Amino acid sequence: ENCLMWFRSDLRLQDNPALSTASRIAHANSKFLFALYIISPQDWQLHDTAAIKVNFIMRSLKVLKEKLAALNIPLIVETVEEKKNIARALTDICQRINVSHVFSNIEYEVDEQKRDKECQNECETHKIKIEFFHDQCVAIPGSIVSKENKPYTVYTPFKKNWLSTVESTEAFLQLSPPPTTPFPSCIRSTQPSLFSLPIPSSPGIYEYPLALLSISCELYPAGEDEAHKRLNAFIEKKINSYHDDRDIPCIDGSSGLSPYLASGVISCRQCVNAARRANGNKLQIGKKGIVSWIAELVWRDFYRHVLVAFPRVCMNRAYKIQYENVKWNENEEMFQRWCEGKTGYPIVDAGMRQLNGSGWMHNRVRMIAAMFLVKDLLINWQKGEKYFMQHLIDGDFANNNGGWQWCASSGTDAQPYFRIFNPLLQSQKFDRDGIYIQKWVPELRSLSSKLIHDPYGSLSPKEFQQLGYPAPIVDHKVARQLCLERFKEALGK
Ligand code: FAD
Repeated sequence: ENCLMWFRSDLRLQDNPALSTASRIAHANSKFLFALYIISPQDWQLHDTAAIKVNFIMRSLKVLKEKLAALNIPLIVETVEEKKNIARALTDICQRINVSHVFSNIEYEVDEQKRDKECQNECETHKIKIEFFHDQCVAIPGSIVSKENKPYTVYTPFKKNWLSTVESTEAFLQLSPPPTTPFPSCIRSTQPSLFSLPIPSSPGIYEYPLALLSISCELYPAGEDEAHKRLNAFIEKKINSYHDDRDIPCIDGSSGLSPYLASGVISCRQCVNAARRANGNKLQIGKKGIVSWIAELVWRDFYRHVLVAFPRVCMNRAYKIQYENVKWNENEEMFQRWCEGKTGYPIVDAGMRQLNGSGWMHNRVRMIAAMFLVKDLLINWQKGEKYFMQHLIDGDFANNNGGWQWCASSGTDAQPYFRIFNPLLQSQKFDRDGIYIQKWVPELRSLSSKLIHDPYGSLSPKEFQQLGYPAPIVDHKVARQLCLERFKEALGK
């Protein structure tokens, strides 16, 4: 009887708890180890997975397949059109290749948990053992709690506790024992027909914008080795200035690891450990850039802990329920203009065009663009959340939902609804010379850094018209007032 490693959002060999255990058990018992990835186009569609992310996953699978082959572990890639058939498909595969033990890493979202419960039931019926492992977080969800044993609802105290827990190595090891490098599988396979099938490059429902895909292949080559090359280069060259550079969208100052983290091509533990090593084994003090970067990785853990403690965020609900009463504008035209980067607010438009043109957006600009949709256009944050998911190569439910709810004030931000960014001030502060705007909004390329942030307010009507750039969709001052009133009304203030 054989063992099976079922890959999902953990497309790597190193530091993979399920794979490392599977290979150890298979090795110790002289069993053969297979690997599986299930493509479910319907699942991707239901979860708004971006075509560019699907393509990244497919490219990553190709690399993974080669790496597994070198360990004599064949990767089977099976397409199951409908999500509800995944459990049956899994046990069918197990029966075909005589598997009695399945290993997989946990995905924490509600739908994924439901799928795994169905798999567990189906496996039980067929007397197949299935085991799930914690993998996605550095600290297992539920392990970082307040003195009252409650989940944290704001980031700063969570971070404090997380840092001191993870820093004391002993506690950290208890939370997440470091998985070992997988052993090679021991016997040659006897069923090559199953795993010699080619990995499709464009499965199912997606139409790929080809130009975008070639940009993506160039910007984000697939594979674990590439992810580590990036991590090392970032730590060597950029991390020390990360604290100062991370908010400046024209500087390539962040790690660019998000697509790799979102698909599990690299683990968050590997990132934290590499940063920690570069900082004399410290997490809380030391080099400012390193400490800042670790704090961002803590956000990632935080949003996953929130998702597990408050699963309603996975079910189209607000984290702060009272914010569900906000009366949103149903203005499809405004929404389309936001999507296309034609709001007349250059920094917002630059961000949306970066997203549409590259599948990624700078974090500061994500905040500005999201806040603008919610607070200036008063459009339901869930529409923006969906649009981001449909276009991001690093689309990640917990981070995206957390980011959007933070911007909509219905999330874990300690400040209430009156945090409203002024897009003009944000633009002047973070894109001072207008370089980022110039890159993504060609209509404004001829403008000086003084004029570029607010061309409508700075130029004569005739000069403005000649630019061929839209006038602002709303007046920020008026929109701000309206937003405050709407939110007050919703909260009964
Ligand atoms: P770095 O600055 O190098 O950070 C390293 C890693 O830390 C990131 O790859 C990411 O995994 C994590 N991280 C960084 N910032 C955050 C944050 N604010 N919250 C949670 N984790 C963070 N990130 C995603 O990975 N997927 C998303 O779908 C996503 N949607 C977002 C939507 C909104 C509205 C906002 C405001 C933020 C969103 N983020 C999302 C967080 C952040 O913008 C990206 O993680 C970051 O820009 C990725 O670039 P990087 O890898 O160079 O980041």
